[in-house]
Amino acid sequence: MLRLQDNLGRTFPYLRLSITDLCNFRCNYCLPDGCEEHHHKQSLTVDEIRRLISAFARLGVEKVRITGGEPTLRHEFNDIVSTIKQIPGIQTVAMTTNGYRMDERIESWLKAGVDAINVSIDSLDARGFQTITGHDRLQEVLNGIKRGFQLGMPGFKVNAVLMRGHNADQLPDFLNWIKDQPITLRFIELMQTGDNQDFFNQQHLAGNTVREQLLNSGWVRVVRHKSAGPAQEYYHPDYRGRIGLITPYSPDFCDDCNRLRVSSLGKLQLCLFGDQGYDLRDLLQSDQQQPELINRIRNFIQLKQDKHFLEDGFTGGTATLAQIGG
Ligand code: SAM
Ligand code: SF4
Repeated sequence: MLRLQDNLGRTFPYLRLSITDLCNFRCNYCLPDGCEEHHHKQSLTVDEIRRLISAFARLGVEKVRITGGEPTLRHEFNDIVSTIKQIPGIQTVAMTTNGYRMDERIESWLKAGVDAINVSIDSLDARGFQTITGHDRLQEVLNGIKRGFQLGMPGFKVNAVLMRGHNADQLPDFLNWIKDQPITLRFIELMQTGDNQDFFNQQHLAGNTVREQLLNSGWVRVVRHKSAGPAQEYYHPDYRGRIGLITPYSPDFCDDCNRLRVSSLGKLQLCLFGDQGYDLRDLLQSDQQQPELINRIRNFIQLKQDKHFLEDGFTGGTATLAQIGG
């Protein structure tokens, strides 16, 4: 099989696909003013997605994460999941969601073929959650997780963006919550994007502050495989859950980068903070274009840079992470 490999020898078994840049939440670090609907019609169709993922699967991609915007807003969401799941070579279909109506819908997601769910919960305080997201829906999201466990999900990953003035003091609540539940709670360092510079300056907090608190209270770093993803994980013998830290500003963050992204408009993004996307959509129009598509992807991958330049304040073409899925 052809395998995708860049000039630095990095391989890419994992693709994140945004299926819409629309979102119904207004997270203060991402889309504080909500979003406009005009892009929605242009999102990749189910057939375009099938051709796209088929090409990547032939290049060694085994895992696809469906994200957005809020991916579950697409009315064809379940169809997209089952289409990707049936593509030869794809072993895992994961999704990232804000948990909107998850309690009612999770059963259909699992039936369609979702293997793993990341859900975003930035605060376990209902009012804090509402302040951050613009929605009084914390209980609904928590009920969705409960329902997932009832349906046999072995665990969840929960993402919380670390913010100085919103949740940095809530580590004890989060730890208490995962004491008896198989949840990996990942604190993500707030990233600067084109649209959130003032917010970033006020709220950014280095992940080291959480790391120190964990190490001081008996948490131990888990040694993970290089390709396991960007989170450093910590475990504690008294807890069923784990803690993850995602620290994009640490100097070695990009070393083992196995992440590739495709936007909802069919642009290949080689880095979350790259300058531009590389268009693939014109080659998603018929099954006969697969050889040309595969060649184009292999050529583009050679343009992947060794690292991002976030620490210099360079956010590339990324105005918000809702554009390309975080
Ligand atoms: N709407 C879904 C959700 O919120 O889970 C999926 C898309 S969202 C862009 C994916 C992840 O990116 C979420 O966990 C979100 O918290 C995170 N995110 C968005 N903007 C961010 C930023 N500026 N810094 C760090 N994480 C961010
Ligand atoms: Fe929407 Fe997710 Fe961005 Fe929040 S983080 S505004 S839920 S895309």
